[in-house]
Amino acid sequence: MSWNKPLPHPTEISAPYWAGLQAHEVRLQQCDQGHWLFFPRTHCPTCGSRQLAWRKVSGAGEVYTYTVARVPTLPEFTDEMPQLLAVVALDEGVHINTTLVGVAPEQIRVGLRVRPVFDDRPGSATLLRFTPQDSVHPGVIAADAAAQPQQSTAPAAPRQTLPQVDCKNLDAMRALVSDGYSDWSNEIAVTQELIDQFAQLSGDDYWIHTDPERARRESPFGTTIAHGALVQVLISRLQLPMEFEVTGYHNIVNYGSDRLRFPTPVPAGCRIHARYRIKAVEQVKSGTQMTMEINVHVVGQDRPSVINDLVMLYM
Ligand SMILES: [Zn+2]
Repeated sequence: MSWNKPLPHPTEISAPYWAGLQAHEVRLQQCDQGHWLFFPRTHCPTCGSRQLAWRKVSGAGEVYTYTVARVPTLPEFTDEMPQLLAVVALDEGVHINTTLVGVAPEQIRVGLRVRPVFDDRPGSATLLRFTPQDSVHPGVIAADAAAQPQQSTAPAAPRQTLPQVDCKNLDAMRALVSDGYSDWSNEIAVTQELIDQFAQLSGDDYWIHTDPERARRESPFGTTIAHGALVQVLISRLQLPMEFEVTGYHNIVNYGSDRLRFPTPVPAGCRIHARYRIKAVEQVKSGTQMTMEINVHVVGQDRPSVINDLVMLYM
């Protein structure tokens, strides 16, 4: 299973809830009048009391409602299809949005008794899922050490307001051009599973990408490598730390690429990240054209694996 998925960022108010899940306990807030509440808050929505305490509960409850999602809610969840999205009513009465595990879609029904499953993600996050009371599914999904989290260098801080640059202000746009690169994006793992999926999608299933055994014996790299085109499209999963926001346009057109190079391979299982610089800004007939050089590197490698001079047209 791939771990290239969004993970929660605990806030000061919600931190005890997430810490509880890490300890494999469901902890809820209860006010001094006895009302249970969820999601975590500073006051009771029933009586307004601010006298709240965190208490451990069993986590037992029942399916309040559910949806079997056959189209991924985010591209990152394509390996979990169908997604068994549910609202679980805990016995304390609170409702929790979650996903069900260890159950076939046709077995789910409203009122189904469920118990918690603590899904330890690599790193610091544990997610709360549920499985039927009588399921044999383990109560804990252990973090897969081989699949690292994406969050190590992800920009976790709340998004700040970025300096705005009007696309019609050519001087201001040209001031963005720089020889220096941005900070790094988040990291994602290029797993053999992703490579196999891309091989199937693109039709390029050459053994150098898809046959780990033969690659070990015969490939100069000693292992399978990702398709350059795959690494290039994975840029969409890398959140580049933008330092500005372009405004004042009606439309942005992705005009393609001035240069696309694959200088070094990405071996299967490696983690990648990216950075960028604005390489050029010019006025063209239909608007302002900006060339952004995006470099994707294997984490720790000096030489990039992909160089993409992306051309965007602000109209
Ligand atoms: Zn209350």
